[in-house]
This record gives sequence, structure tokens and C-alpha cells, in this order.
Amino acid sequence: MRVKSLACTTLLVAMVSLSAFAATDHPLLDAARAQESAVIQSLHDMVTIESGSDDHAGLAKMAKYCEDRLRALGAKVEVVPAANGKPPGLVKGIFTGTGKLRIMLIAHMDTVYREGILKTEPYHRDGNKLFGPGIADDKGGIATIFGSLELLKQQGWKDYAQLTVLFDADEEIGSPGSGAIIGALGSENDVVLSYEPSPAKVVAGSEAVLLGAAGTGAVKLEVQGRASHAGAAPEEGRNALVELADQILKTRDVYKTVPGMQMNWTMANAGGARNQIPGHAEATGDVRISDPAGPDKLLAALKAKTAEPPLVPDTTTTITLDVLRPMFVAGDRGMTLAKLAQSIYGELHAGNLSVDDTRDMPGGAMAFSGRNLMLVPGTTGGTDAGFAASSGKPAVLEGLGLAGWGYHAKNEYIEVDSIVPRLYLTSRMLIELGSKADVGTR
Ligand SMILES: [Zn+2]
Repeated sequence: MRVKSLACTTLLVAMVSLSAFAATDHPLLDAARAQESAVIQSLHDMVTIESGSDDHAGLAKMAKYCEDRLRALGAKVEVVPAANGKPPGLVKGIFTGTGKLRIMLIAHMDTVYREGILKTEPYHRDGNKLFGPGIADDKGGIATIFGSLELLKQQGWKDYAQLTVLFDADEEIGSPGSGAIIGALGSENDVVLSYEPSPAKVVAGSEAVLLGAAGTGAVKLEVQGRASHAGAAPEEGRNALVELADQILKTRDVYKTVPGMQMNWTMANAGGARNQIPGHAEATGDVRISDPAGPDKLLAALKAKTAEPPLVPDTTTTITLDVLRPMFVAGDRGMTLAKLAQSIYGELHAGNLSVDDTRDMPGGAMAFSGRNLMLVPGTTGGTDAGFAASSGKPAVLEGLGLAGWGYHAKNEYIEVDSIVPRLYLTSRMLIELGSKADVGTR
């Protein structure tokens, strides 16, 4: 396995130097333009299916939609049950080709939004922006995969041993049922491309791919006190809620002493009746990890803090920290993929894009000229790329979905003029990787 990854690295490095001055593939770019309206239709079809992480009926509809699309593209489709048994599981499509490359494309079907969100935030278009809940994160990613595969099918591209497409349904809640499956399938591939959105150009200045993402974790604080009648015998109680409040204040800034860690208390729960001194209270916090050694250090520091004498005597406090999603670090091999992506974006300059592709851009055609691709070193948002890369075997790149903004917030949108470049990027990248995998193994 080690030999295999070394071979893959050499191959990728060779590939980038070969492609640095590649000319634009005009037929492919024309085909990408012709595909734009179909991608917009896919976005409409998916955004109008609400699919929050706990919306089982909505996720079942999304899964069915994705299965049908993959089948129409020629994939052998199966549903992989989630490790925790939660429906609908993961949708997996397998394409078998005639080349050497083993590649996997991943995105997620769930969103952060509650049922009924479409009533207040309907799908609609305003100039270059297409709005809708989950349109960037991550239905834009799924639409990019479908659009690119359609392009490649039209081109008759088969230059891969196996191409796997994998969509999970629980990314937004930390991938509890899919993370290990993504990791295991990742280890069977040479390259994994992940389709989370990249920030909108109107926000970030240019489109991007992502080389790293924080890991996520959950911290839990539990206080055991003693319940008693709040009116008749409050002095017999040991108020767990009051102690919890003090512990939250004492611990809230501890993470600042641990490099690469971020922590915020986000949920709390205590008591069951107004007239009872609560005997038990608990709080949960969100943890972001940018240093693999950070979680152990943070937990040790939190334990030291909570072991100090309590504000409410005779209460017991325990604190735990679970790592939910590993960090994603693209490393040298992911960087090689990112540089390939950058060189492909370099082929997209004003001269070979039609006037149509510059519509509604601030500055018009000039803003589109010499299409930049930023390589973003890291984000505090978590991603499935961390699971995909966890075996250390595949080269992994994140952020290949559409450019957009407002995810996990309000008025989420994608930029329409990112569709064609993103279709061109994925299909050119796959063609390049497939052809060089053949050369490298001959
Ligand atoms: Zn996402």
C-alpha cells in the first residue's frame, strides 16, 4: 500500500508539470456551456426537495433522485446502510472503465435547514445568484458531479479502472453513520475529490479549492447534585444548574491556552420541574480541531479546571471530549491536485469564454479574465474530506462544488457563472488524471 501511494505521488507530480502549459480544451468547454442549463435544472429539482439531516422523508426523496440520476448516467447503484442504521444510508454509484485510475467523488445530500424552510426561503434567481436552502452546501456539489459525469459520458471518457460516486445523508451532523464508510472507501482509491462549496467571488474575490479543514468534536459537562423541594427544603438540595452555570463560565476560555483548538458551549439542560432544586445538569459544546494533539491537551486542561473546588458544595462535575470528525490536511499530494486545478482554471480566460459567461459580474468581462483559483489552506468548518483522507492512502482535494455563500445562514445562493468553470474543472481534471495514470503504469 505504501508503494502504491508513492507511485501515485510520483505520477501526480509528473502530471502537473506536463499540464502546466496545457491549452484550453475548446470542445470540452463548449460542452460545459451546453450543460449549464441542465445543472440549473438539477439545482432546482434538488433544492425543492427539503432534506434536513433529520428529515427522513425528504432525505429518502433526495436519495431516490440521486439513485435515478446515477443509473441514467450508467452507474451500478446501491444503497449502503449507514453504520448507525439511520435511513436512508449512503447512495453509491460505481462506473467501471478501461483505464488504471481509481477515483471517488463525494458530496452530501443533507442540509442544516428545518422542515418548511422553502416557505420563507424559496428557490429563485436574481441575476447571477441562484437562491435556495442547501443550494451551495451541498446540492451544488451533487449537481456539479452529475453535470461533469454527463459531459464525460458525452466525450466517451472511460479512462479509469473504477469511478465511485458517494453521497451521504448525515454530513451536517458530523457524519456519525457514514464517516467510517467514507474512510474505508477512500482507502480503496488513488484520488478522492470532495464537492463542498467554495466561497462566492463577490465575497472572496475569486473561486477556490480547499486544502484543509478543522476536525470537529463534542465536549460534554455533567453536574451531579441533589434534588430537593424548591419551596419546602431548598437547603437540602445541591443545585446542579447553579454549579453548571459556574463551570460553563470557568471553562469557556480554557481552549485559548491550547494551540489549534476552539470550543464554544452551545446547549444546556437542567431540571424537570419549576418547584424542584435540580439534581442533574448538563451542557454540550462544539469543538474545532486544527492540531491533532489538541484534543488530549484541551481535555486535560478542562479536567484540571473542573477539578477545582465547586461553587455549590457536594456537587460532582465530569467532563468528556469526543472527536467526531478527523481533521482534513491535503498535504503534498492534495497540493499537487490543487495545482493541477489551478492550471486548468488558468485555461479559462476572457478570450475563450463567451459574453454570456460574463453576465452580471461586477466589472463584466474583465472580472472574468484570467480566472483565478485560490488555494485556501484551511477552514474551521468540518468536512467529509477528513474521513476520506483518514487512511492516508488517497490524494484528496476539497471545495470542488459551486461558488456560493450564506450556507448555514439565510439566503443561501450559488453564483451561476461558476457552473461552467466548475464543470470544465472536474471533467478536465479527471481526463488528465486518467490519462497520466495510464502513462505512469505502462
Ligand atoms: Zn457541506
